[in-house]
Amino acid sequence: MFEAYWDAHKGNCVQLTFANERLSYFVKSKANNNGLWFVFEGLDDAIRDLHRLVGNAVVEDRHILVGTGSTQLFQAAAFALSKHQKIDASTAVVAEAPYYSCYPRAIEYYESRILHWAGDAKKYVSSSKESYIEIVTSPNNPCGAPRQAAVVDNGLGSNAAGFLVHDLAYYWPTFTPISAAADHDIMLFTLSKCTGHGGSRIGWAIVKELAIAQKMAQFIELNTIGVSQDAQVRATGLIRAIMKGYNSNSQLIKSLGPLDAAPAADHLVQPAAVAAAKDSGHDEELLLLQDLIPERQFFHFGKAMMEARWKGVRAALAGNQSVTVQDPSAPAHCTFMGTTSTTYPAFIWLKSIKEPAEDCQRFLKSKLGILARAGEAFGVSNQYARVSLVGRESEVAVLLHRLAALK
Ligand code: PMP
Repeated sequence: MFEAYWDAHKGNCVQLTFANERLSYFVKSKANNNGLWFVFEGLDDAIRDLHRLVGNAVVEDRHILVGTGSTQLFQAAAFALSKHQKIDASTAVVAEAPYYSCYPRAIEYYESRILHWAGDAKKYVSSSKESYIEIVTSPNNPCGAPRQAAVVDNGLGSNAAGFLVHDLAYYWPTFTPISAAADHDIMLFTLSKCTGHGGSRIGWAIVKELAIAQKMAQFIELNTIGVSQDAQVRATGLIRAIMKGYNSNSQLIKSLGPLDAAPAADHLVQPAAVAAAKDSGHDEELLLLQDLIPERQFFHFGKAMMEARWKGVRAALAGNQSVTVQDPSAPAHCTFMGTTSTTYPAFIWLKSIKEPAEDCQRFLKSKLGILARAGEAFGVSNQYARVSLVGRESEVAVLLHRLAALK
């Protein structure tokens, strides 16, 4: 989805690497870094600066851990917390349905003695005999809803044996208004949803408590003996490139107050036009269009793109009698953009409304040739299905065309 942006700025973050660099498992990191050995110093700084710029997470006095994607960090957090609790029983892991399909798969795969998947947090009843971990995903995958609070009613007061892990993969201005700097015990972010570089496999956790961060680092040590330093260096370059687009120095941004309002959507280069120019091989046109990508402002570019895509989705589905799509969230003020908007989820979450109830994934595939993931993987019925909206512009154009055929 961000390809047109990075096409236009591909030279912005080139880092030369030499054969005699980064041979060791161990990383040059901040003085001792409290034993968290695997975080490249430059990336730690860049991550903190990016969060200060965007204002989406508190980083002061917090520990930053880097992982091979946030997938590794989710597992590291689950193992660290299960080791941290005082009850001698397997720890339950829950999330409010519909939940991200990889959580149960990652927990169940190990058939672990210390962790088990316990399904929908809304149905989980906590007891003093078992500790639990609730994952709060906000905005949520698959439905994009902002989720603030945990739903397990632990009923045990402040001594409850429950831990929270906040998966904030999509808490970026691209997908949702930033309402406040999140400040939770364990927060997970990933380069894949922030810059679009899922293939670099870089995620990070912001952790309050040192003992937990150290246990997470231990998991990473046993699992992969650290995280590719080459990927960490590349991630640093990508994050710095985004910040350069905002002329940032976070101190400067802070002293200037909120950024100017987002440019009007019609001042933006339509990504579809860029894709069309690319497909047609008209290099001159492509260069001209890419030149116009405004101010090199990455999040403005991404948000405008998502806004345009959602407009297309709602128009394509208006009045159809086969499926419903998630409602937009209530508009909220974004402290980063300085504007008010709804969320623009990364996924379309469809529900088949045919009688008798129909399998939505099968219906989409057989009727329209659209590939979706069935609701069951997310802990709900197969009346629901998830369709990605973060592919290339040309794919989205085909998707919208097919959805419109439902009318
Ligand atoms: N959390 C959520 C909510 C996600 O949607 C994803 C990616 N689909 C991940 C975590 C995994 O991210 P990564 O690529 O960093 O492993």
